Amino acid sequence: MKNEEFLEKLNKLIPEPKCELKYNSPYELLVAVILSAQCTDRRVNIVTEELFKEFNTPEKMLKLSQEELEEKIHSCGFYHNKAKNILEMSKSLLEKFNGQVPNDLDKLQTLAGVGRKTANVVFAEAFKGNAIAVDTHVLRVSNRLGFVKTENPFICERALMENFDEKVWGKLHLQLVLFGRYICKAQKPDCQNCLFLNDCKYNIE
Ligand code: SF4
Repeated sequence: MKNEEFLEKLNKLIPEPKCELKYNSPYELLVAVILSAQCTDRRVNIVTEELFKEFNTPEKMLKLSQEELEEKIHSCGFYHNKAKNILEMSKSLLEKFNGQVPNDLDKLQTLAGVGRKTANVVFAEAFKGNAIAVDTHVLRVSNRLGFVKTENPFICERALMENFDEKVWGKLHLQLVLFGRYICKAQKPDCQNCLFLNDCKYNIE
């Protein structure tokens, strides 16, 4: 299957992909993405709906102690590290970037708790930058569809960037996440209703 044909089918399937995390500013998105590691977007939205009522800027977040923030985000899992990273990230935003989330991939990655995937998500989603964040869904789907044969997210990211025009990277990331979340699921993918069945490299038993 040619890449153009793949995009055409994907655009039919998921014409207007939307990020499922709720946010009103780049800072809120950044906090939500940190909380979303090993957690569902639905759970994160429940937690942030409460959290952001009072603590939706770096200054306000830093009014919370580590323990207080842990209590508020407890149900997202890994709450100790997530709270630590959110507080350190907020501190460095104030110290280095005047309290603003930088619109720059390299600068984003200098923040505590912000790895390449998180930086790519925030850059693409909040700033409409050209980036492909590779999470577990994007990695799985890219392997099954034969775009890559690797478990390394960075290699997968490079391969997708080489295969597709940079103008579609941000949209493609969201489409692959949603495709992996609802159709090409880790367990029991919905292959019978998949437009890519004939091209899929997945070993269907
Ligand atoms: S055929 Fe099945 S495994 Fe392959 S891409 Fe479609 S849903 Fe995923």
